[in-house]
Amino acid sequence: MHEQLEEKLKKILKVKHISLFNNGTIALAVALKILNLTGEVITTPFTFPATVHALSWNKLDPVFCDIDDQNMNIDVNCIEDLISSKTSAILAVHVFGQPCSISELINIANKYKLKLIFDAAHAFQLEINGKGIGTYGDVSMFSFHPTKLFHTAEGGALTFNIVELKKRADLYKNFGILNEEEVVLPGINGKMNELQAAMGLAVLEILDEERKRRSEIDKLYRIELFDLDGLYIYEIDESVQPSYQYFVVRIDEKVFGKSRNYVYDSLKKYNVFSRKYFYPLCSEFNHYKNIQSAHKSNLPVAHLVADEVLSLPFYGALNNSDIKRICNILRKIKEE
Ligand SMILES: *Cc1c(COP(=O)(O)O)cnc(C)c1O
Repeated sequence: MHEQLEEKLKKILKVKHISLFNNGTIALAVALKILNLTGEVITTPFTFPATVHALSWNKLDPVFCDIDDQNMNIDVNCIEDLISSKTSAILAVHVFGQPCSISELINIANKYKLKLIFDAAHAFQLEINGKGIGTYGDVSMFSFHPTKLFHTAEGGALTFNIVELKKRADLYKNFGILNEEEVVLPGINGKMNELQAAMGLAVLEILDEERKRRSEIDKLYRIELFDLDGLYIYEIDESVQPSYQYFVVRIDEKVFGKSRNYVYDSLKKYNVFSRKYFYPLCSEFNHYKNIQSAHKSNLPVAHLVADEVLSLPFYGALNNSDIKRICNILRKIKEE
């Protein structure tokens, strides 16, 4: 089942090589390991905790870079100022399936001889001009947690362009066991198990239908919400095939009249549960907040975005009348 799923996902994600894992976090930790990184890694504070924790587990020091207001991803114009003699890599995240500024990232990585790793946990089936998102950079990580578009109950994957990296990842996720007599490196147990793979194969059967339904939901939200001033919806570029994993809006309090927190709390009263993804920023966690780059004054855009984002209910079983109800409630909250 593991082998079957690996073959199928390789095609669906349009990647050269793939290695399946028990979850995305272990996959990312192994990705950092196989690249032999040292010292500092430049990353974004606007992400799920696992991105930055994977650095800590590898004794790598995160350096937080501010984000781009236009796509909520690492701001490529701020990276070069953060590069030091200790920098070994850039770890970028395609947040909410919005692709990073990939060509700029590749140029910077090449110029300074840095490794480039993508956390593509939100980017399943994201494509740019028909090219799989997992083909960019040295390694990309996908998460198959149940909250993601495609899932294996829990699970994850790494994708690579060169087979040597896949071989190293396969060794690292299986205790470093090369064969019955040789254990060649200090690996961990990161393998995807057969039950997870079976779940993945079953979920693949309904994937297209789920994506199709979510594309309709996405459209309906946009139609219903476009005239709500102060509620901003991100546009997806025409060259991009979206992953339909989240539907995220930003609420500009000055224009909308109510804060994101007010909207979040009010929605709950109507039994509508949204999420403040990603709030708080990783740079605000106790473990990271004393790093110099974590200081609020260095991350103005990230702080603004973290205070404005709201992830609305988004899943295939959500019916049109409920979407309209949610949008009417948002309208009511604005006018309260
Ligand atoms: C879900 C997620 C992860 C972690 O994946 P798991 O499979 O839950 O370990 C990492 N990064 C981001 C951005 C995520 O959303």
